[in-house]
Amino acid sequence: MSGVSSLARACDLTLFGDPIARARSYFPITTAKHWGPYGDGYKSLRIMDRTCQAPGCWAQAASSFAAYCRSHRTALRRHGAVDQKAITQAQLKPYLNLVKVRIAKNPDNQAWQTLDNRWRVLVQQAQDIIAHFESGKAGNKYELMAAREVVKLAPEVSPRDVVEVVGAMIMMRIMEPRCFKSDEALWMQLARRVRGLTDLHVGECWDHTRQRLRRRYRELSPKAALWLGHWLATALGIAGQGLAKAEQAERDSRANESRELKEALSKLV
Ligand SMILES: [Zn+2]
Repeated sequence: MSGVSSLARACDLTLFGDPIARARSYFPITTAKHWGPYGDGYKSLRIMDRTCQAPGCWAQAASSFAAYCRSHRTALRRHGAVDQKAITQAQLKPYLNLVKVRIAKNPDNQAWQTLDNRWRVLVQQAQDIIAHFESGKAGNKYELMAAREVVKLAPEVSPRDVVEVVGAMIMMRIMEPRCFKSDEALWMQLARRVRGLTDLHVGECWDHTRQRLRRRYRELSPKAALWLGHWLATALGIAGQGLAKAEQAERDSRANESRELKEALSKLV
């Protein structure tokens, strides 16, 4: 994990090639903690005033080694950036609808089949990772966790559901770039929304204040979520780019048409 990404850095929307290989080259293999106690390359140790480093936050840092206050540190860990909020199902819905309409408009386009297959290949690769680990060979713990997650999801969701959600997320990233603060944030939210396709991760717990059962989302380990999101972006992210392009072209042509109509109407005698 590369720590906090600056807003200035462009998000890497879609990565090309084999998702497993790409993720392996992105995430360091080392298990040694070279990153300091809070994953920021020991930067935190240099802070003298112990105020939270998140923009606009003056809260006290969580500890004398921490760069951020408690809540910003939690956001960084859970959402991939200090100022990242979870992308909700409701926020994603308009984009999901755009994706569904676009697929319905082009039912025979080869792209959908290819993308479905890419998910199936990813599931196969995840099974291979688990088999590799179970045969006693060493591997990355978080990669293994992400692989188990994919295999757990596979029987519960249809490949098209996954393709639609990833397509919608990348579309949202392109059309509403402020919703995602960094690459890591995008990957985390990708993992979150794809996991949200099933009830597998919803546990129930007793809410003492309200005296009733409450549904609670069981989080995947943040580092495993990064792996999962990275895989999804590499394997299926390209769908979102194509979809956003088509949407933009349609909006441009609609705008052109009404401009021309206005012009023509203004010339009426
Ligand atoms: Zn803070």
